[in-house]
Amino acid sequence: MARGSLDWIDRELEALGAKGLRRALEPIGSPQGPEVEVGGRRLVNLCSNDYLALAADPRLRRAAAEAAEREGAGSGASRLVAGDLPVHGALERALAAHAGTEAALLFGSGYHANAGVPAALVGRDDAVFSDVLNHASILDGCLLSRAELVRYRHCDVEELADLLARTRARRKLVVTDAIFSMDGDAAPLRELADLCDRHGAMLYVDEAHAEGVLGPRGGGLAEALGVADRVDVHMGTLGKALGAAGAFVAGERRLVELLVTRARTFVFTTAPAPAASAAALAALGIVATEPERRARLAALVARMKAGLTRLGFDVARVAAPIFPVILGDEARAVAASQALRERGFYVRAIRPPTVPRGTSRLRVTLTAGHTDAQVDAFLAALEEVLPGVATG
Ligand code: PMP
Repeated sequence: MARGSLDWIDRELEALGAKGLRRALEPIGSPQGPEVEVGGRRLVNLCSNDYLALAADPRLRRAAAEAAEREGAGSGASRLVAGDLPVHGALERALAAHAGTEAALLFGSGYHANAGVPAALVGRDDAVFSDVLNHASILDGCLLSRAELVRYRHCDVEELADLLARTRARRKLVVTDAIFSMDGDAAPLRELADLCDRHGAMLYVDEAHAEGVLGPRGGGLAEALGVADRVDVHMGTLGKALGAAGAFVAGERRLVELLVTRARTFVFTTAPAPAASAAALAALGIVATEPERRARLAALVARMKAGLTRLGFDVARVAAPIFPVILGDEARAVAASQALRERGFYVRAIRPPTVPRGTSRLRVTLTAGHTDAQVDAFLAALEEVLPGVATG
């Protein structure tokens, strides 16, 4: 029975629909992979974050299944109460080794980590400096911290320098995506680390889209740039290149000890399911021993970059397997996504509020499992559909 008190929702949904901003779920009928089944059709999948093509890897599946047999399907409690299972500690030790830090702490997801960690580091007398294009979860975490929120223009080191010079905050936290999730460009981490040193600020880097993908050991953008030891808070996710679910913060032991007590999104939530943590542990082994996956992905990224440049898209700053194919208004992005689907390619339209108004786009991603032929066929299909969407 519909309750009258919720009638306003009909009007809200209608208004969202009229603006082309209503979102809907779409079930995927197959495991994650370079091709997926959607609506009964097999499509080339160009919108997952499964960058190393590990989500359906038999070794991860086996590790997950064995952990469920050994440690149960659910963890049954928070880590601090009765949910601290063997696989969690094993994964944290492996993550610290992977990140080259003293310690690491698991979170249920990247969203949990970003929503809860800033508040453990800064509060009312402090300031947090955040790139305007940082992920929504970072913004939410900054707001929850109650510190003064100072947003600086995208990757604008000069503006940040001015802002840091002027602040009178007690503690200062600079937070940035390593690779920006909707644009694929890289943060200037060396310059940010220099600024943090100069102003006594902490540096928090979200490696969600670089973890396992960049760096000689797959440690992320900071590793690739040789500044990993200058990052105070290394946040990484386990649900993208690592093919599992969850996230972590790696850093000094005292940082992790503080988070165990203070990070509300660690304290007040059920510990990750053993299967997810075991899958991530298996993935870390593959990241360490199969660098050819990163090399293959880099080759595909170069191919896509050259192709999109040829079609007139500005992808010069792309540093990872994420390509913004910016089409402008929402209707154009949706029309392009639909036309590509008819040609066998699955690429979702990304619209506000995920991206700024007027920059609706296709967010095209690649995985190590794609083939050169799939990239070429996609570029040909995109070239074919563009004139149609340009005229509306
Ligand atoms: N940070 C960034 C930069 C992201 O893009 C995302 C997810 N898209 C997250 C954090 C959240 O991670 P998770 O999906 O594990 O919650």
